[in-house]
Amino acid sequence: MTKSTIHKAVALLSGGLDSMLAILTMLRQGIQVSAIRFITPFDPDASDDHTFHVIRYQSLSHKYGFEIIMRHLSHEMLDIVTKPKHGYGRNMNPCIDCRILMLKEAKQVMDMIGADFLLTGEVLGQRPMSQRKDMLYHIDKEAGVIDTVLRPLSAKLLRITIAERKGIVDGEMLYAFSGRSRKPQIALAGEFGMKDYPSPGGGCLLTEPNYAFRLKDLLAHDPNPAIRDIDLLRIGRHFRYSPRCKIIVGRDKAENAIVESMSADSDYLLRVEGYGSPMTLLTGEITDESLRLAAALCARYSDAKNVREIAVKLIQSGKTSIVSVIPAGDEILDATRIGKRRTREQAIV
Ligand code: SF4
Repeated sequence: MTKSTIHKAVALLSGGLDSMLAILTMLRQGIQVSAIRFITPFDPDASDDHTFHVIRYQSLSHKYGFEIIMRHLSHEMLDIVTKPKHGYGRNMNPCIDCRILMLKEAKQVMDMIGADFLLTGEVLGQRPMSQRKDMLYHIDKEAGVIDTVLRPLSAKLLRITIAERKGIVDGEMLYAFSGRSRKPQIALAGEFGMKDYPSPGGGCLLTEPNYAFRLKDLLAHDPNPAIRDIDLLRIGRHFRYSPRCKIIVGRDKAENAIVESMSADSDYLLRVEGYGSPMTLLTGEITDESLRLAAALCARYSDAKNVREIAVKLIQSGKTSIVSVIPAGDEILDATRIGKRRTREQAIV
C-alpha cells in the first residue's frame, strides 16, 4: 500500500454501538467509510419521526467523518420474513436471511463506488444463531462475499480477509471480542471518547415477542400482506373481528394521529364524542357487527368507559354517523385482542 492510496470500505450501520465501533476502528486506520443504514418496516427507526433519525445519522457522520447512505428494503425484507430459507430466531427474526440480504445489497454498493471491502460490527458468539463462526462464513458464502467482510471487533478470531491480506488494514489494530459481554465494547467506546452511545441491539421489532405475535396473526390470515398492514402493527392495540377484519385502537395522542393518517378510504375511523377518546381504526371486510365491536372497544379505552351507554362517531370517506354502544367488557377484550395472553390485571390496562 502506498501512502497516497485511499482505501474505502462499505459498512453496515445497525444503529447499535458495535457497528459504530467497527467504523471508528477503520477511520482510525485512514480508511474512508460509507455506511449503509437499511430502513425496513421492522426497524424502530422507520417509525413516526423518520426525519429525527435521518438528522441523528447525519450528525454522527459529520462528527466522525464518514458518509451515510440510507436505503429502504421493504419488499425484499417482507419476502424473507414471510418465507425465511434459514428459519426464524427466537421470535419472527429471520436473522440469517436478513444478514445475507444486507450483505448482498452492500456488495452492490461496494462495487458501485469502488470500495475495497465490507465492514460489520458483528461480534463472534454474541447471538446464538447468526453470529456463530460457521454461520458467519455460511452467510458470507450465500451473499457472495467470501473473505470480503471484515469484522474488526472479532477479526483476530476469524479467517483472514482480503483487506488484511492486502495490507489495506493493519490486523494488529483489530480485536478478538467474543460472547455476550458488553464490557470490551464499552471500554473501546471510552477509548474513542464516545459518551452517549446507542443501546446494544438496535431494537429490531422482529425480536420483540408481542410484535412477533401480531405479525404471526397477520401472516396467518394474509400470507401476502401490504406494507401498510405491516406498518400498522407497530402502533396501537390490535383486535381481530374475523379472518379479514381488524380493529386498531390508538394508545396516546401521537398514535391517534398516526392511526388517522394511515386510514384508507374503505376504513372506518371511530371516536367517542365529548370525552377523551382513542382514535380507532376498523379495516378489512366490515359488517354492522364489526362496527359495533369497534365502537365498543373505542368506548372501552375512552374516558367514557364507565358510562352505561355511549355515542361513538363513525367516519368513512368524510361521511359521519353515530352508533350507541355499551363499552366492551373484559371478556370481549380477552376474546378479540391480538397479543400474548396477559394477567387479568394487565388485560384491563
Ligand atoms: S435482528 Fe432483525 S435486523 Fe438484525 S439481523 Fe435479525 S432480522 Fe435482521
